[in-house]
Amino acid sequence: MHECPGSAFIEGVNMCENHEIARNWSAYPAFDECVRFHGHACPGLATGYRVATAAMRTLGVSRPNDEELVCIAETDACGVDAVQVVTGCTAGKGNLIIEDYGKHAFSFFSRDSGKAIRVLIRNSGKQVRSAMDTLRKKVFSGTATPAEISRFQEMMQAATRSLLDAPEEDLLEIREIHEKPPGKARIFASVLCDLCGEPVAESKTRVVEGKRLCIPCANAQRDER
Ligand SMILES: [Zn+2]
Ligand SMILES: [Zn+2]
Repeated sequence: MHECPGSAFIEGVNMCENHEIARNWSAYPAFDECVRFHGHACPGLATGYRVATAAMRTLGVSRPNDEELVCIAETDACGVDAVQVVTGCTAGKGNLIIEDYGKHAFSFFSRDSGKAIRVLIRNSGKQVRSAMDTLRKKVFSGTATPAEISRFQEMMQAATRSLLDAPEEDLLEIREIHEKPPGKARIFASVLCDLCGEPVAESKTRVVEGKRLCIPCANAQRDER
């Protein structure tokens, strides 16, 4: 048994990175799968990948089929896509909730064990990023030279790689939280909108002058008045 700097975060959970990676790494979808889903490799996606795999290992869960694992993301940036691919917490299943506070933090709740953690991304690689930001502005405003564009792409790749390889304790702060998971996604009865006649979830209807309307119709009615 060797000493692992990350081993003290959560009592009773084996946080030793080397052991756990050897045992569980292949159990998670590869980073390449996240890249395919997201459309490109970027530092944000890499960070999200590290968050997702660390969270699953810490909670001792494998990829859920339904809603055993719930994630609250405090950002809507690139990393959310890696979280969806790796953890199976997806917007469509209702077990990914985006509360966009513009913070690089994700909370995960295991319904089976009742355990919950919050994973905070530490501010790492600041200097690299400010150099990249200068180039990024040029690249996205269309004023960068071809040399600058390829330099930017190289920097993005290097930053992505270094985030995938960074020691977990340098990159993430994981702590146990004592909060209840949000309620399960509810399935609502579908009704017909009194104006357009399209089926709509009852919970999403609005009553306008005694008529039960879908939101677009309710908005159109309001604009007419
Ligand atoms: Zn991205
Ligand atoms: Zn309607």
